[in-house]
Amino acid sequence: MISTRASYRDIPLYSPAKKPCRVDLSDNTNLFGTPPAAERVLRAASLRAVSAYPAGYSPDLRRAVAAYAGVTPEAVTTNCGSDGIIDSAIRAFLEPGETLAFMDPTFVMVPLYSKMNGVKAAPVPLRADFDIDAEALLATGAKVIYLCAPNNPTGTGLSRAAVERVAERAPGLVILDEAYVDFASGPGFLDLARSRPNVLVTRTFSKAYGLAGMRVGWAVGAPALVAEVEKARGPYMLTALSEAMATAVLTEDGEWVKARASEAVTNRERLRGELMELGLRPLPSEANFLMVPLPGATKVAERMRERDVNVRAFQGLTGVGDALRIGSAPWPLLETALAALRESLR
Ligand code: PMP
Repeated sequence: MISTRASYRDIPLYSPAKKPCRVDLSDNTNLFGTPPAAERVLRAASLRAVSAYPAGYSPDLRRAVAAYAGVTPEAVTTNCGSDGIIDSAIRAFLEPGETLAFMDPTFVMVPLYSKMNGVKAAPVPLRADFDIDAEALLATGAKVIYLCAPNNPTGTGLSRAAVERVAERAPGLVILDEAYVDFASGPGFLDLARSRPNVLVTRTFSKAYGLAGMRVGWAVGAPALVAEVEKARGPYMLTALSEAMATAVLTEDGEWVKARASEAVTNRERLRGELMELGLRPLPSEANFLMVPLPGATKVAERMRERDVNVRAFQGLTGVGDALRIGSAPWPLLETALAALRESLR
């Protein structure tokens, strides 16, 4: 065996417990269908998109995002999912050994990206009301702070006051992950990316936009900041087809996306009512899923999988304990999930 990188020895491959299930509510994707413009692009795709390299830095998508976000293309970066954005932003702004602070609990990939980039992870527990502890995050002195609003896996939002406080006082970059903003009641924090030199707001086509299989994420920030992230990104991170689909969906399918997101929110609240009837207490949610604290959640999720329903189980989350995360979906799927849950709780 050749010698390997010591700090990589305990990095696990990403493998949420999963077997193919008829009803999969485990990854918060759009289960309401495929955006029409994506289907049109796919059917009309040229074989050149297969044999030729794509554009290095996705200029068409950058222009479309710029128009959508009210910024110039230089203020936009794209990547292979918002995963790629987060990874590149960490690498762009931290030398190995420096510190990345993040709220805890949050998106599971964040501590992993910190390991992969050789930086120190400083998790900072959320407050009892699920807002961030701005002072504790700032006290880490970290040159990159990651925030997620609405947060995965809790589904809860962050207060503008606390986010602004962090953005104003942080010594370096603040990454604000808005993968779920399309399901939130407020407008999100894109204005901070437009107005502040140190805030990078990330978005994704994988959730409300229904393109998880195409792997497209984007972010907006000050052009000087984005230029650094583009260096860490490198060229050719999107395929020609991914770029064309994302561009078309962003410019043409706004209404389609909004209508599906709205249905996801309606069904999420209907699901909440049914869960309360079962004596469960889901956290308030601004996303397209509910987090349901439940001791022994892993066992319950296993039993649900035996009934062909996949939901995500978490163990010992800071401030929450064990919990299930259940994605919103067309109501018949949620009914099937509820039936499986009722049987699995017995
Ligand atoms: N951020 C959050 C909070 C997420 O939940 C996810 C996906 N689960 C991502 C980023 C990454 O999404 P993608 O790479 O598909 O854009």
